[in-house]
Amino acid sequence: MQIKVLESAVIAKIAAGEVIERPASVVKELVENSLDAGATQIAVEAQGGGVELIKVSDNGTGIPTSELEIAFHRYATSKIDDLSDLEKISSLGFRGEALPSIAAVTEVEIITQTSSEVVGSYLHLRKGEVIHRESRARPQGTTVTVRRLFRYFPARLKFLKSANTENSHIAHLVSQYALAFPEVKFSLVLDKRPSLRTTGNGDLREVIGEIYGSEIAQRMLKVEQGDGLVKVSGLTSPPSLARSNRNYFSFFVNRRWVRSPLLTRATEEAYHGLLMDSQHPIAVINISLQAQELDVNIHPAKAQIKFCHEQAVFSSVQKAIKEALARTPIASSKSVPFSISSGQWQSPRMIMDNEPTFVVDQLPTMELPVLRVLGQLANTYIIAEGPNGLYLIDQHATHERILYDRISAQWAQKEVEVQGLLQPITIELSPREEETLKASKEFLAEFGFTVEPFGNRSYVIRAIPALMARANIIEIISALLDSLASKESPNPWEEKIAQSLACHGAIRAGQQLSNEEMRELIKQLEQTKQPRSCPHGRPTMIHLSSHQLEKEFGRIS
Ligand code: ADP
Ligand code: MG
Repeated sequence: MQIKVLESAVIAKIAAGEVIERPASVVKELVENSLDAGATQIAVEAQGGGVELIKVSDNGTGIPTSELEIAFHRYATSKIDDLSDLEKISSLGFRGEALPSIAAVTEVEIITQTSSEVVGSYLHLRKGEVIHRESRARPQGTTVTVRRLFRYFPARLKFLKSANTENSHIAHLVSQYALAFPEVKFSLVLDKRPSLRTTGNGDLREVIGEIYGSEIAQRMLKVEQGDGLVKVSGLTSPPSLARSNRNYFSFFVNRRWVRSPLLTRATEEAYHGLLMDSQHPIAVINISLQAQELDVNIHPAKAQIKFCHEQAVFSSVQKAIKEALARTPIASSKSVPFSISSGQWQSPRMIMDNEPTFVVDQLPTMELPVLRVLGQLANTYIIAEGPNGLYLIDQHATHERILYDRISAQWAQKEVEVQGLLQPITIELSPREEETLKASKEFLAEFGFTVEPFGNRSYVIRAIPALMARANIIEIISALLDSLASKESPNPWEEKIAQSLACHGAIRAGQQLSNEEMRELIKQLEQTKQPRSCPHGRPTMIHLSSHQLEKEFGRIS
């Protein structure tokens, strides 16, 4: 074939193929145009996954009648003038491709009016050609309606997913813009059902509440940091509020929604040591820097960007999030069993992931800072780093505290979690023990032990408290019987039994723990009422402050 310049219709379709991947891409371009036009209210409507209909209305500046048709020409834009503008783009759009690209693959109607016009204009295009124009009045702003998307681009139609999937892409996209622009009032209606509505009052936490629910919104931590080059702000989740995927990351650079491996990494590294590998935070992070520090012109749909000083951006974001995590009092979660079955630690976090049921309950005086696990010493102490120095944490005392609090809570609520034993354990009792047992059977049952006689002072244990799954059951029963034998008045002996159960149920010194187990232990310690001491009153941790360290090493006098 001979080399020739392609016809403009073909060029437009090729461009459209890059810019308009799916219905949500059309929504993106139209919403960006509305934002660039200074709209404070943007209403998005879609039907049939956006293939049947997409409609975006705004109260922005509008397009003057004299410029309306030009807007549908390729490379027609009001946002940049010359080459130097390309280096300092502050608008979301600048390529002048969206409207012509959309018009190339479908049917578009636009009604728009500026503040200086008495009457606005209406334009109807098909395959990029104007098929109807007239004067029409409307309040200041613009409405673009796109019907039967990809009608003239059937190849693309084949790649689309179900209407529901496309709807979910649209919902995600509008949510992201709502997060990026809390001062803009967004509404989204999908297949005639209201899907999202924000107030536009400028409060990011409120927008997060609309999107992720008020529970999450309440618990998010404020991120705020500005050093010369890069300003970072937003909200990020405490370590106790993690998710099992990265769908809850939102990054905005100069208010542009971007996907950025760099920013993802910076965020995740800020949580290093605080989350398990399978866990990811919820983060809404705004980064602002001078337009010259950024190249936004590397991707047709402008979803990717390039930073001139990547390292500076990386460390600013990481630092800002770390600071937010360090500043924050720890919220405790509802009692989630530290369930351990057959020697395996089942992370309660995994359960939480699927079903977040949290209460915000800030600890009064004894709260712990966020601690980062560094390692284990002598298979007995967890070495951790906090915002102000080093912490040595006794793994046994820590687990004792956790179990004690859980046991007491379960007793108080008369809701002891019980675990049946697949292989019942038989135990031989001394005569004295047997007497105690006969006298206190109902207590044992209340604590969660099912013990049945097996003849000749032998007993079968069929069920135990779930919190004790890790313990040596025979040891526990005899300790328990011992306490029950010497019980006097009700309260103190119950406390003693709880202490004894906690002590026997807890991990021993000398046991090797994985990093995840240590992290889990610290997380759960954070949620106890008195994290700094075990139920017997011994300390759970020793703190060497940064100041002490500096003094010891003679860095300061
Ligand atoms: P770009 O956004 O890259 O400039 P578009 O093809 O998306 O290119 O839009 C072309 C031009 O049409 C814009 O530069 C802007 O002047 C005008 N325009 C598009 N949508 C709107 C809108 N909703 N309100 C006001 N002006 C708009
Ligand atoms: Mg645009």
